[in-house]
Amino acid sequence: MAQLPKGHPSYSVVHEFCQSDVLEHWKLCCDRGELLDGLKRHFRVWVPLVFGNSHDSAKEEHLAEKYLFRPMTEFMCGGNPEEVFSQLKNVDTPSQICGHVFKPGEPTYSCRDCANDPTCVFCIDCFQNSSHKQHRYRMNTSGGNGYCDCGDTEAWKVEPFCSLHSSSMEQNDQVNPVDLLPVDLANRASALFLASLQYAIDLLMWKQCVQLPGGLDPEETVPDIHHCMLFNDEVHSYDQVITTLQRAVDCSQREAIDYATIVDREGRSIVKSGTEQECEKAKEIIEGADFDIFDLILRNTSRHNSKPLKVLVMHNVVVAHQSFALKLIQWLQNIISKSDGLRRLFCLLSMNAPPKKDLCDAMEIDDVDAPASLMERVLLADTQLWKVVRVKIHQLLMAGALMDQECKKLFAGMFTKCYEQLMKEFCLDDHDHDVSVMSLSVQMFTVPSLARWLITEYNLLHVILQSFLTACKQKKDKDGRLCFDRNDRSPSFKRASYMLYDIKYALLARPVDPEDWSDALRTNFLNGVVSLLELLRVMQGMDGVTRQTGQHLEFEPEWEGAFNLQLKLEDTLVLFTRWCSMDKVVLIEAYKETLEALYHSYETSKKEKGKCEVAGHTTKSMKYDVSNQPISIHLPLTRFLAALHLHLEKFDLTFHSPELMTKKRLDPVDLLEPPLRAQVMIAQTQAGMWRRNGFALLNQIFFYHNVRCRGEMYDRDILMLQIVASLLNPNDFIVHLLNKFNLLHWAKPEYDIPGGQEDSVRQTVMLAEEFLNLLIILLEERYIPGVGSVTQQDVIKREIVHQLCIMPMAHSELAKGLPVDPNSETGMEDVVNEVAEFKKPSSTGKGKYDLKPEYYKMYCPYFYHYTKAEQSKSEEAQRKRKKQAGESQALPPPVPPPLTSQFAAIVNILHCDVMFHIFKMVLTRTAAQRSRSWSEAQFERILYIIGIALHEQKRAFKEGNTSYDFLTKAMKEDGLLSKLQCLVGNQNLNQDPSRDLLAWSLKQFAEVCTLKSEPVCLETLHSLASCTDQKTETERKRKAEMAAKRRARVMAQISKMQRNFIAENSELFDQTSTELKTVTSDMDLGVMVPPTFPVALGPHRSQANVTGPIQATCILCQEEQEISCSGKAMVLAAFVQRSTVLSQSRGKMLDKKDDYDPLFVPVDLFTGTHVSSCGHVMHHDCWQRYFDNVMNKERRRPLRFRQSFSYDIDKMEYLCPLCEGLSNTVIPIVPSLPSLYPAGNKKEVDLRFDDWLDGIEKTVQNSIKEAQDKESEDDFSLFQPCPISTITRMMAESVAKNFQLLWEYVYDDASGHFSEGMREMLKKFARDVYAFGLSVEPDDESPRVSILAWSTCAFTIQSVEQNLRGEGKSLFGSIPTRQADLIGSLVRFAAVCSQVMNPDMVKQNCVRLLSALIPCDSEKVNKGSPCLLDLDMFHFLTIVTMTLPSLYVDQQHCIVNTLPTGDLNNQHAMQLVVTAHIVQILLTFAWDTEESMDVESDSEGEALLKIYLQLQKTAGLTPEKVPSPYQLLQYVRSAVMPFLRCAAILYFHITGVSPPDELHDHFCTKEYEVLCRYLSLPVNMSELFESVGDITTALIKSWCSSKSLRDRLSANSEKIVRYPIVKNDLVPLPVDYSELINKVSTFTCPKSKDSDDSRAPTMCLVCGQMLCSQSYCCQKDLEGSSVGAATEHAYFCGAGTGVFLRVRDCQILLLAGKTKGCFLAPPYLDNYGETDQGLRRGNPLHLCEERYSHLKKLWFTHAIPETIAHNLEFNSSFTTIEWQNL
Ligand SMILES: [Zn+2]
Ligand SMILES: [Zn+2]
Ligand SMILES: [Zn+2]
Ligand SMILES: [Zn+2]
Ligand SMILES: [Zn+2]
Ligand SMILES: [Zn+2]
Ligand SMILES: [Zn+2]
Repeated sequence: MAQLPKGHPSYSVVHEFCQSDVLEHWKLCCDRGELLDGLKRHFRVWVPLVFGNSHDSAKEEHLAEKYLFRPMTEFMCGGNPEEVFSQLKNVDTPSQICGHVFKPGEPTYSCRDCANDPTCVFCIDCFQNSSHKQHRYRMNTSGGNGYCDCGDTEAWKVEPFCSLHSSSMEQNDQVNPVDLLPVDLANRASALFLASLQYAIDLLMWKQCVQLPGGLDPEETVPDIHHCMLFNDEVHSYDQVITTLQRAVDCSQREAIDYATIVDREGRSIVKSGTEQECEKAKEIIEGADFDIFDLILRNTSRHNSKPLKVLVMHNVVVAHQSFALKLIQWLQNIISKSDGLRRLFCLLSMNAPPKKDLCDAMEIDDVDAPASLMERVLLADTQLWKVVRVKIHQLLMAGALMDQECKKLFAGMFTKCYEQLMKEFCLDDHDHDVSVMSLSVQMFTVPSLARWLITEYNLLHVILQSFLTACKQKKDKDGRLCFDRNDRSPSFKRASYMLYDIKYALLARPVDPEDWSDALRTNFLNGVVSLLELLRVMQGMDGVTRQTGQHLEFEPEWEGAFNLQLKLEDTLVLFTRWCSMDKVVLIEAYKETLEALYHSYETSKKEKGKCEVAGHTTKSMKYDVSNQPISIHLPLTRFLAALHLHLEKFDLTFHSPELMTKKRLDPVDLLEPPLRAQVMIAQTQAGMWRRNGFALLNQIFFYHNVRCRGEMYDRDILMLQIVASLLNPNDFIVHLLNKFNLLHWAKPEYDIPGGQEDSVRQTVMLAEEFLNLLIILLEERYIPGVGSVTQQDVIKREIVHQLCIMPMAHSELAKGLPVDPNSETGMEDVVNEVAEFKKPSSTGKGKYDLKPEYYKMYCPYFYHYTKAEQSKSEEAQRKRKKQAGESQALPPPVPPPLTSQFAAIVNILHCDVMFHIFKMVLTRTAAQRSRSWSEAQFERILYIIGIALHEQKRAFKEGNTSYDFLTKAMKEDGLLSKLQCLVGNQNLNQDPSRDLLAWSLKQFAEVCTLKSEPVCLETLHSLASCTDQKTETERKRKAEMAAKRRARVMAQISKMQRNFIAENSELFDQTSTELKTVTSDMDLGVMVPPTFPVALGPHRSQANVTGPIQATCILCQEEQEISCSGKAMVLAAFVQRSTVLSQSRGKMLDKKDDYDPLFVPVDLFTGTHVSSCGHVMHHDCWQRYFDNVMNKERRRPLRFRQSFSYDIDKMEYLCPLCEGLSNTVIPIVPSLPSLYPAGNKKEVDLRFDDWLDGIEKTVQNSIKEAQDKESEDDFSLFQPCPISTITRMMAESVAKNFQLLWEYVYDDASGHFSEGMREMLKKFARDVYAFGLSVEPDDESPRVSILAWSTCAFTIQSVEQNLRGEGKSLFGSIPTRQADLIGSLVRFAAVCSQVMNPDMVKQNCVRLLSALIPCDSEKVNKGSPCLLDLDMFHFLTIVTMTLPSLYVDQQHCIVNTLPTGDLNNQHAMQLVVTAHIVQILLTFAWDTEESMDVESDSEGEALLKIYLQLQKTAGLTPEKVPSPYQLLQYVRSAVMPFLRCAAILYFHITGVSPPDELHDHFCTKEYEVLCRYLSLPVNMSELFESVGDITTALIKSWCSSKSLRDRLSANSEKIVRYPIVKNDLVPLPVDYSELINKVSTFTCPKSKDSDDSRAPTMCLVCGQMLCSQSYCCQKDLEGSSVGAATEHAYFCGAGTGVFLRVRDCQILLLAGKTKGCFLAPPYLDNYGETDQGLRRGNPLHLCEERYSHLKKLWFTHAIPETIAHNLEFNSSFTTIEWQNL
């Protein structure tokens, strides 16, 4: 192998390609058995040509097919491949197994009723066609390695087939599909498979960079092209790689990101191509990068790696061959999928044929270690390959060996054989598990028959566990115990724990039939048990702790490692026990092995015993002081024994059975020791004795009891104590307990004599309570099959009952509190409906389970799975419940289920001497005048135990069991009973519950006595009756007391409710004191009904409702202030944002912000400026001080400590001081307009519309001057409004006089109208609206400032109107006060803002605006102004209304009041605009309803039809079909309606004329007529066109015939907006969430060329576009910084604001600007009314329309920025997310 020659710039030789020659040559080679050589000869020429010329991928693919793959396929087929393949397909037995290989993110479905384990899944197609759709199923997304199990009879308990893969076909296992292949084809295929696989593996594993394996060196010299290849590792971060690359290969950030993305996805990427020297240089730089510095920069201290990135400089030809080899793997996968025969052939060959000798030599592999087959070699090479190669090979394995049942078995055997080696390499590797070949284990080990076969034949359990034990070696301490070190960060042990999943998989399906057990299986299973015991032994006693006295622990000891291991082993332990429980031989052997293992683990510890004595009873007990010797709560060996012990009875075995005898076994007392120590330690912790041991201990105890761990920890310890209790003498047992609890002195009567240390007494009292607690648990907890006579269902029921006794719970809440089995099932659904009722409060809220009343009697206050907090919470809830029902507050023990015979002896504790001694002692102390060691808790527990004893006594009587005799003993002279009786009415018992419990106990005694009708008993009965009588007396008194108390409580509750209501609605209550008082009364039309129909416009307009001066209270200084122009200005907190919500052209951008002319707002409303407000009022100076303060405070804070992300001070954002609503400016509050001009000054003017129009036309025409810009030589028009005198001079005298009068009323002498503060605020708001609305720098001089002020008013009204319309609400009836306040303020602001602007500018704007409707001679003007069809008429109306009064303002009369008043002038302007709007409507009339409803002829409709035809004709249109008059009329009315509604809102706020009542009515049918009358428009719109005068008619005609309009209507012009404008909405979502998951599983990253999956597919809910979010690949540059796809999309789609659905995480993403965002729960709910953010539970989800509507409203009302600010304020985790990267 020579060094590849260098120097030539390109491939010089042109090769001839003749396929038939090639095939001929291969055939010869093949016959000689040398096909590989033949192939190589071909490859060495063509591979560099195809893959070494950096073609684009399409061309490369084409060439590869032509020169490489096609010849190979044809060679194999020996004819036309398509024909051959289809023939082969015909002989295949149709596959029963779906086998669909999942892409990452694809939805998977598992049936919770029928799947053998949760790894069995369906693909969506199979699931939809299966009966499991109706079962309880779980939905998930695939991680991308696995396939559909449909058709696998071992995966499903029932119905393994969907209707697509039905089992009707008789599967013939006997036929080997290879036999069905034609012989010559089989021969050629064998040779080709072997040769190509050899070649591919060889190349992919090739380690040399500039040399090729023999036979592949190019014939001629090749150019010096080298590549710098960067490899992936999981150590370096994205940012590190990107920064390094930018420096090393001199590329842009974008390119660096692309490289990094490829490296991450594929495992390697070429980052530079060039000469060898150039590449070497780049390599040096990359390798030399110092990452510690990056770590410092990135503050990423967790990564202490100075390991360099892996880079190789590779020759072009080597890379070319490797690229081809990778494609070859894919080609093979494709070929073997063509036929069962080919697949089987390929699998057998690759698993049987050894790799060629020379290859082994080349690889420098020793003969001894040489892998047995090609496949084995592939397996073992896994960790040496880069990512994409691994993935392709795994796919080949899945499509090959795993798809064929025969081969799967062979493969699994081979896999198991290599397991230890593979695992060792996996642990040292740094790639994720899912790109490791180890991830295939689940596909084999979960198949029950295969797993059993592997255990039998390959000793699978032993292999896995021994591999794991090997990995454990590095973690052992000097005593041979596992010991984890927090500082050891090597990930290899963590990776080793994947083996624990494997062992679980292998055990999931236990043998059910006795026939399933063979001797070999038994032997090998027991081998597994022995290995398990070996593991448990190194865990026994882990992390022992010693009580810390004196000072606190300096370092928190490590505890997590042990618990992680325990957690991962949990299922395995359960499964091992289950297997053992199935077979007597196995159980016996396993039990004996465990006993022995325990014995050996004990040998090391000393056994010293001492004498203990209680109440004359003596026993020898182990000396071990828990409070100063090491204690561990890791006792897996003991617990495993306990678990096995449960199953002895089933096979008639006991602890003492001869079968279980071994020499090396421990006594029950020794077995008791470890779990008892753990209990005592926990009791001591409760008593505060371990306080100095820190949080590590508390955490251990927490997890020990936690639902995730307790099954194999706490529960087993209790079980072991019960086992020992059933084996020992009960007196001995209690003495052992007392001894360990250190309570022997407490149990002596003399202990109660005063003296001694008080502190230790308190400790002892608490320990005594814990001791009694433990006794209760041992006696009462029998809900384990094997301990009590209960079923698994009883167990779950009891858990549920106790959960629900705390409080009613939602489904997921309840499920979280229940233990799960190895299949992650709680079993809750089977029983929950029996014990609880599911109550669904509302369609959007979560439903809750309520316990059925009859199950309350199952409640045990000492339930062992309660935490202390849950215990007291449940007790409180139960007492409260009973109290409210007027019942006794005693919480007595429920009747426990009977014990199994194995455990029956436990009850003897209840009547043994030592127990009675304790009973009497505590009762004596209760009765004592003064006792230092008594506590009510002890007394209650004693009563509780007596209660259990009485229950047992009843049972004994019923069963005729005389050996249990609690009663006789209790009734002895001076016995228990008399002691109890004496306590009735005792002063020490001042709590109702304990008194009630005492009464209950006595009643129980009475009941038990009646069962045993002895004279003594009857006597007692009598005395008991008197006792309880006395009791009833006190009861009555108590009830009276209670009634009084209840009354008092009800009163208290009422006043509390009132307080709460005020607190909850504080905003409301605040508002009432701060909002503009008279505005509310203004709206309250019930009080002031105008006598006549209200009209807002024209000479006949109604009187405005002007009330006295309005008062408002400043929320900051609380002072009242009158709203006026001249006084102190008041402002409303407000938020201005640019909006695309109303856009009819989604995606259209405000491109040239600095040149955009906002005067002519296009009808598609693609951009607008929206204002919102929380409605809170402040003095302008109070606000200014507050705002300055906020800014200064934030600015002083260093950038990285800036906590508050909820508002961005760089954007002037602040939070409203009262409600914390997001704001960025303030609106000045202007008093109502009519109050600003003198009321009596109204002169009646009479001027026809036509004459008015004439004057306006003349004005416009005379105001436009053509001019030429001298610098640019561009023609432009100058709008220089001419004085009114010029116009009137051209008019008839009478007309002129009236025309002039229209503008005359306005003279006003009130000089200095607006106070300085007011002017300042008016200017400020105008400036802010301009800057935020156009996203430009503020500029007070720009003529656009005032235009924005007017148009934001119009836009906000339109948005409010559309929202009301969308919700079907009336215009004035349901508008919230704060919104009405806002709109009023906006309108008044827009009306007066001309007062603070340059009057010339206002005039110019007016003329320019009018010029869009008035034809004039100047071509330039017509060219500049937009087409009539593109104008938004409501914007037009608003601006013309606001500017018209200023049209003739004279510079000399600057005091002129130019407010719109709703006079004739406004009325005519309105008519002009409506006429234009009707023309728009008629010209764009689109005909979509086919059915023509022929209603009786309609004169109004007829007239409109005539006008319609006329207009169409003038515009040069010929309508295809003519609508009926009625249709046209309906259409016109509905089309003009939005405009009329907006106009009504506008004019209401201008004139103050209250709208007619009908507009408050949601179901007003006459809305159209009412609106027309209010706006003084003709109800019959045709009147606007008929006999209106020549000038008007001419104007209409000129509109229709204008060139711009005709161009616009021509067919190929842009989309025309039609009426009525449809309200925008978020995109519709499917009802079933899995449809969405399925949809995104086909979505690929738009940036990647190989169409890779996208990791966080995110859907824009505004436009429906799918995005590849939160990924470097799709980051874009936006305004100079890199942002994620969602942020970028929001910028274009929503002017920076966005609503997205992150499909895989199932959550809503809101974004605003680049830095802010939040997550919300999705609008999808499961059947229990709960959301599933992150798809953690996997319950089927369905769309909740109400929730989605809420989200839609959020968007439509522009409330997203506000919502985000609010969420950021309250959820601190959101502030750490870098939203711009999403
Ligand atoms: Zn399927
Ligand atoms: Zn199927
Ligand atoms: Zn099912
Ligand atoms: Zn104030
Ligand atoms: Zn507020
Ligand atoms: Zn992408
Ligand atoms: Zn969008």
